[in-house]
Amino acid sequence: MILRAKYVLDADLRPIENGFVRVSPHHIIAVGNSLPTDDLNVIDCGNAVLMHGLVNAHTHLELGTLHNTVQPTHDFVGWLERLATIMRSMNTDREDIKLAVRNGLQRSLESGVTHVGDISRFASITRETSAGIRSRPNVTSYAEVLGSMSIEPDQLLDQSADLHRLPTALVQGISPHATYSVPHGFMLKCAVVAAAMRAPVCIHAAESLEEEEFLLRGTGRLREFLESMGVCDSSHKPIGVRPIEFLNRTFSLKPNTLLAHCNYVNIDEIRLIATEKTSVVYCPRTHHAFGHPPHRLDDMLDAGVNVCLGTDSLASNPSLSMLDEIRFLRRHRTDVSSETILRMATVNGEIALRGKGETHLSLIGSRADLIAIPIDPNGSSDPCENILTNTHVPTHCMVAGQLLINLTA
Ligand SMILES: [Zn+2]
Repeated sequence: MILRAKYVLDADLRPIENGFVRVSPHHIIAVGNSLPTDDLNVIDCGNAVLMHGLVNAHTHLELGTLHNTVQPTHDFVGWLERLATIMRSMNTDREDIKLAVRNGLQRSLESGVTHVGDISRFASITRETSAGIRSRPNVTSYAEVLGSMSIEPDQLLDQSADLHRLPTALVQGISPHATYSVPHGFMLKCAVVAAAMRAPVCIHAAESLEEEEFLLRGTGRLREFLESMGVCDSSHKPIGVRPIEFLNRTFSLKPNTLLAHCNYVNIDEIRLIATEKTSVVYCPRTHHAFGHPPHRLDDMLDAGVNVCLGTDSLASNPSLSMLDEIRFLRRHRTDVSSETILRMATVNGEIALRGKGETHLSLIGSRADLIAIPIDPNGSSDPCENILTNTHVPTHCMVAGQLLINLTA
């Protein structure tokens, strides 16, 4: 099968005019601008940009059940308290979670997402639901560990599943929620289990100043909140180091570790993250809604950190659309080039979720995860800028060689 379009973006986000991509059966086998004539199965995406699918490297699909129930404010701990109160009083219904996961995957696909990094407290339900859906993005599913859970970390990973045989990836990882919400001993257990099972890891890290205060001095509103939740008690002693140092000591930062947010990091921590080839996922709309200072993504990119993008959950973001996310970033960070935004939203996300520490991905040989977004004829002559500043949605979305959306058919 061949897909052609006015522009094809290669892995370096360079536009190939009148380009094509050849797929067989689940992978890309050729990219170029001289359309082969030996294949009658050509799908013409028209006046569009054909490119690697968007990767939403950080979300919590199950929290779709909280859409419009809890809103982010500039008070991060206050938001955590409201979220915890609602979640404790919620009658967690298996069918509600399944519905949230199904809806989330469908909305993701419609916005051009071909790979989702999903964190779930009910990972077995979300994995089972995902595995049963034919038309969905690839999913890297991180089982969430919270301090109040009694389940052992290794019980969260089901190594017997047939999930790896699916043409679309369904990868199992583990997510100790954050540096402050999982007791130290339990965090170490997670590190041992993750290493033994070679499971990818995702952790919320350096998300707020309150987190820094709790780790360094054991004080502040986060301490009060954690005591009220039973995660720590009055005998708790501070760890005495900042979040990134704490994670490096417990997990030894690695390429298969994905740090969510990193809103409060210094240049030494950024260099450490770069050296260890650990990825950082930045969530622009959520970051903005909580009123954090500007994200240091430029310093991270300059230092060589693999920075990717995510929506986070519907408890802190109005939609799971990665197109909304990257267009928001374009409007709010005009100093960041359109190529950089698209690279973070595609190739960098794929590198982060693969967790192998790659610095570059070639399209040829990669899984055929592709989308086509129409060009606005009145918009920018730069195809990357054009699709970031127009309002079109993808007309084509292919996951692992399967064309799941084809609006021109
Ligand atoms: Zn999150």
